[in-house]
Amino acid sequence: MSRPLKVLIIGAGVAGAILARRLGALPALSVTCLERVAPDDHSEAGTGLNVGPNAIKALAICDPELAEAVTEASLPWQSWRVALADGTELFDLPLARVADNDGIRIRWSELYRILRSGAEPHIRYGCEVTGIGPSALDPRQTRVTWTEDGAHHELDGIDLLIGTDGRYSATRAAFSGLPKPSHVGVTILRILVDDTSNGLVDDYTQWFNRHHRLLAFRVPPHHIYIAGTYPIDADTPIPDDWKTPQAMQQAFLPENGAPSPAVQWLVDALCTHADEAHWARMQESEVRFTEPERQVLYLGDSAHGMAPTLGQGATQAMEDASCAALLIEAAVQAGQRDVRAWLQAIDAARSDRIRFAMDLSVRATDTLLQNADPVAGARWKTEDPFIDDLSRLFRDVALGTQP
Ligand SMILES: Cc1cc2nc3c(=O)[nH]c(=O)nc-3n(C[C@H](O)[C@H](O)[C@H](O)COP(=O)(O)OP(=O)(O)OC[C@H]3O[C@@H](n4cnc5c(N)ncnc54)[C@H](O)[C@@H]3O)c2cc1C
Repeated sequence: MSRPLKVLIIGAGVAGAILARRLGALPALSVTCLERVAPDDHSEAGTGLNVGPNAIKALAICDPELAEAVTEASLPWQSWRVALADGTELFDLPLARVADNDGIRIRWSELYRILRSGAEPHIRYGCEVTGIGPSALDPRQTRVTWTEDGAHHELDGIDLLIGTDGRYSATRAAFSGLPKPSHVGVTILRILVDDTSNGLVDDYTQWFNRHHRLLAFRVPPHHIYIAGTYPIDADTPIPDDWKTPQAMQQAFLPENGAPSPAVQWLVDALCTHADEAHWARMQESEVRFTEPERQVLYLGDSAHGMAPTLGQGATQAMEDASCAALLIEAAVQAGQRDVRAWLQAIDAARSDRIRFAMDLSVRATDTLLQNADPVAGARWKTEDPFIDDLSRLFRDVALGTQP
């Protein structure tokens, strides 16, 4: 019998944990997943996620038990409402019109907890990676060193190295340099607060005050996730004076007339928790799934940073991981041990799909740009071309064909 192929996964986030669980179950592979944080450290994940129907569809095909666990810990995402800050409705799209199943709304920390606990035996926590590079044994293989509990570790002769270490991927940086981010001209503030809204906020809704947009939805157990956006020039630092309660009121409350009760509650919540808000620029980065010379795969944010407008970051990370797990499993079960062929099959399955999702996310950002008209921006999103694209995004998961 041939030796198990050595697989090392760096990063047990969304994509890495899904993959560690599925690949770890295959006797033909010896799988190790290194995670930087401690087992219960979700400190970077204090926010809510809306995960698209396409991710749940892909995960249910790849790992029905895991998809069920994630769904059980979430609320269904079933509609997309858009309104003006005074409550005037612009559109209300039931996702059943564009998807075969619901999406979900979940706390990010809860998603991590479930995905990581599903892959428990294969994840090593508290690992600080100290070196990633080619192996001297075989030019296609790689070598990784790390410290764990104060001790130095090394794995050489890695047959497949998978970088699922997020947007600032050390794996991708080691082989091809980190891609230069491309800014889409929008800053986003995000926060998770207790739900004291008495039902004013539930499923995914956006409220526009000119080019400023609030987005909010309820997540279990009793929280509301709020995101607010501001147009910004690519090279301008985020001004500190945007971060004050007064500036938030000015951005999100209508100048003339009363806000809807939901918007008033959201702005009050933002002002109360202004100091806790997480601010970032919307950006995307060039797509790369594999290295031409080596047996290295990137998935999720390390393969493609994505504008968050349609909630496709974690969503596509789940689709990526489901695709890679299914293709590798099929190849291994067919006795196909040519790792380059696996990687080519994953790249072929995912590249166009990701470019489509990235392009649609940027096109849907039109209403967030300087001087955008939310009414016109909402109108074209109710028309057939956009509805068809959304249906393609939410229905056509790209899981590829066996190498
Ligand atoms: C505030 C916020 C809100 C978001 N909202 C949404 C949303 O509503 N819907 C959506 O679909 N997406 C959303 N996203 C995007 C989404 O979170 C990411 O796209 C997604 O987490 C990417 O998954 P990933 O597996 O590629 O990486 P991650 O989930 O980021 O996981 C990377 C993992 O690698 C680990 N790691 C990093 N470097 C190393 C290293 N050197 N060694 C070991 N481990 C390492 C990290 O600790 C982490 O566990 C949001 C992002 C942010 C910041």
